[in-house]
Amino acid sequence: MTDTFASAPASPSAAAYTVPQERRVLTAIPGPKSVEMHKRRLESVSTGVSSTLPVYIKKANGAILVDLDDNHFIDLGAGIGVTTVGHTEANVVEAATNQVQEFIHTLFTITPYEEYIRVAELLAAHTPGDFKKKSVLINSGAEAVENGVKIARKYTGRRAVAVLDHAYHGRTVLTMAMNYKAMPYATGFGPLASDVYHAPSSYPYHDGLSGADAAERTITYLEKVIGASDLACLVVEPIQGEGGFMVPADGYLPLLQEWCTANGVVMIADEIQSGMARTGAYYASEHFGWVPDLVLTAKGIAGGLPLAAVTGRAEIMDASQPGGLGGTFGGNPVACAAAIAVFESIERNDLLAEGARIEKALLAGLTKLKSKYDIIGDIRGKGAMIAIELVQPGTGDTTKLPNAAAVSSIAAFAAQHGVLLLTAGTYGNVLRFLPSLAVTDALIADALTVIDHAIAAL
Ligand SMILES: *Cc1c(COP(=O)(O)O)cnc(C)c1O
Repeated sequence: MTDTFASAPASPSAAAYTVPQERRVLTAIPGPKSVEMHKRRLESVSTGVSSTLPVYIKKANGAILVDLDDNHFIDLGAGIGVTTVGHTEANVVEAATNQVQEFIHTLFTITPYEEYIRVAELLAAHTPGDFKKKSVLINSGAEAVENGVKIARKYTGRRAVAVLDHAYHGRTVLTMAMNYKAMPYATGFGPLASDVYHAPSSYPYHDGLSGADAAERTITYLEKVIGASDLACLVVEPIQGEGGFMVPADGYLPLLQEWCTANGVVMIADEIQSGMARTGAYYASEHFGWVPDLVLTAKGIAGGLPLAAVTGRAEIMDASQPGGLGGTFGGNPVACAAAIAVFESIERNDLLAEGARIEKALLAGLTKLKSKYDIIGDIRGKGAMIAIELVQPGTGDTTKLPNAAAVSSIAAFAAQHGVLLLTAGTYGNVLRFLPSLAVTDALIADALTVIDHAIAAL
């Protein structure tokens, strides 16, 4: 047999890094050049747009961000789960570059092109469910949520929209009413859209309920407060993102789907953060045996370019009149070319296995930290979507009182030492690990050492 793979890279994503995959801190954080840039920003950028860590980036590759002062950060946020295949992944860069040279825009609703169709075909093939599916492409996650709601209302002829406690669905006028937290997403921006209802969720660490009991509690709310005959859709993140990576109890999601199906309610999976191979499956719904009617994709779909989709049962997707869905930039050809490359990279580099590898490395390291520090109350998540919930000392098995101060201190310490770590949680007491699938075990180990020191320093 000829040795066809002799020149294949040792690690699937190690193809050709343009930035060394290591942490390097050369200045105080933020460094002098970032401090200067921040002054300029404050003069021209709205204060309504905040930044977690005001270091200004000039280059990124794999799992490393390089700032203006040449500091190299281990990126455990991936732009909130956007650069899932890695920053400037070679296949994505090549596909987007080629497409830019062919054509950049025509508007699919005027003169269409193949790239849009190919993305719709790939979404139909990789979203859960073995039935005829169709898609619409748009630009952002919130726009996917908005379109999911429109499509469900048109199909059902009903008005009400239900979401779960601790949910996050976006910052547009409709979606800000669908979020759990008013601050900062809705405060002062009202009036809020009507007919949006917040039902109790499944949060095993706090409610201790089985999937069946949590589902019964949710369904009772939907039946009593809204009434099935008025409910167009129930929108659910299979693993809640901003809420703090809550993994619902076994059986919870399929039981809700069963109730929705029996009552003519469209159940929508908001997989904007959890989808696109992030959790060791194409879509997190698969971990729970949940087959949603509609699936929302955004963040990770195009390697960093803006693209989003609503995909689902053809009869629901086809209920809208021609011209009722779409938009100027929706399914931009460059973003579509990048998305096709992302799907190819997932297959070619077996990125579902990378998700499982990262889960193993993070869970092992975090479990060690939990046995050392009793402020780590819970470790949860799937694949490259893992979080720890921090509680007040000694309350981890009892009252589980949130410890937001520890989370802020650890994130600040990590940043000073070249690790970009995101926070989350309704009470601000969750640290989330949302790296790209290119993050190596060595980078994970290094980052966890920094976090160990951060907790020790509290
Ligand atoms: C980020 C996010 C959204 C909103 O997406 P945008 O692209 O920021 O509009 C919606 N739902 C979930 C679960 C998200 O994580």
